[in-house]
Amino acid sequence: MDLGISGKIVLVTGGGRGIGKAVSETFSNLGATVIINYNKNKEPAESLTKKLGNGSLCIKADVSKSADVKQMFDTVKEKFGRLDILVNNAGILKDALLMMIREEDYNSIIDINLKGPFLCMQHAAKMMLRQRSGKIINISSIIGVNGNSGQTHYSASKAGLIGLTKSAAKELGRFGITVNAVAPGFIDTDMTKDMKDEIKKDLIASTSLGRIGKPEDVAKVVLFLGSNLSDYVSGQVIGVDGCQII
Ligand code: NAP
Repeated sequence: MDLGISGKIVLVTGGGRGIGKAVSETFSNLGATVIINYNKNKEPAESLTKKLGNGSLCIKADVSKSADVKQMFDTVKEKFGRLDILVNNAGILKDALLMMIREEDYNSIIDINLKGPFLCMQHAAKMMLRQRSGKIINISSIIGVNGNSGQTHYSASKAGLIGLTKSAAKELGRFGITVNAVAPGFIDTDMTKDMKDEIKKDLIASTSLGRIGKPEDVAKVVLFLGSNLSDYVSGQVIGVDGCQII
C-alpha cells in the first residue's frame, strides 16, 4: 500500500533524539527526505542524518528564537523549494511544584514548547499555502489534556499547543493543509530516564497496556497523520498513552 510518503520533504524539530529520532527514521524508511533539526546535541543529529541518507540534512536552530527559525526555513526553501510535512516535536520538561517554579523556567518552557511550534507553523504554513497541501503534526502530551501535579507550566505549554493545533486546522483546512496533535503518555526517552523507579512503576501500573511506551509507538501515529491515510483528519488530538489513567 502506498502511504504517499516516498519523495516527501519532512522537517522534524528535535529530530535527532528520542521520539523525534524515531519519527525521522520512520519517514526516511518509507522514502522521505528528512530535515533533522537540533539545538544543543549536534552529534546524534549528524550521525542520524548520515545513517538515513535520502538527501537528509540536519540544521541547528533553537525553535524558540525567531531568527533561528527563519534561517532554518530559508535553508529548507533554498535546498528543497517545498515542505510537505512539519513535525513540531522539540520540547523540554522541568518538573516543579507551582509555588516553586522560577519565572525563567516558566518562560523557557513556554518559549520552546509553545512559541517554537507557533514560529515553525507560521513559516511552514506560508510554504504549504503556496503548494495547496501540507501536513502539520504537533507533539503535545497527555499532561496537556489532563494536567498533572508538578507540571503546571509544562501542562500549560502542551494545552496551548492543542489550542494552536485546533485553530490552525480551522484556518488552514481550505488550503488543503491538515493540522493535528499527538498526545503521548509515558515514553522511554532521555526526558523520562531520570525519573525515580517508584514513579516509573506507578506510571506503568496506570496504563492498561502495562508497559512504558516506546518512541516508535508515537512515531507510528505521527506516520499515520503524515500519510494519505489521514487525508480527512484534521484538528484532532490522538493519545498514544497505553490507555493511561492519571
Ligand atoms: P528528549 O529525548 O529529551 O528530546 C528532546 C528533543 O527536543 C531533542 O532532540 C532536543 O534537541 C530538542 N530540543 C529541545 N529544546 C530545543 C530547542 N530550543 N530547539 C530545538 N530543539 C530542541 O525528549 P522526548 O521524550 O523525545 O520528547 C519529544 C517531544 O515529546 C517533546 O515535545 C515532549 O514534550 C513530548 N512528550 C514526551 C513524552 C515522554 O514521556 N518522553 C511524553 C509526552 C510528550 P537537542 O538535544 O539538540 O537540544
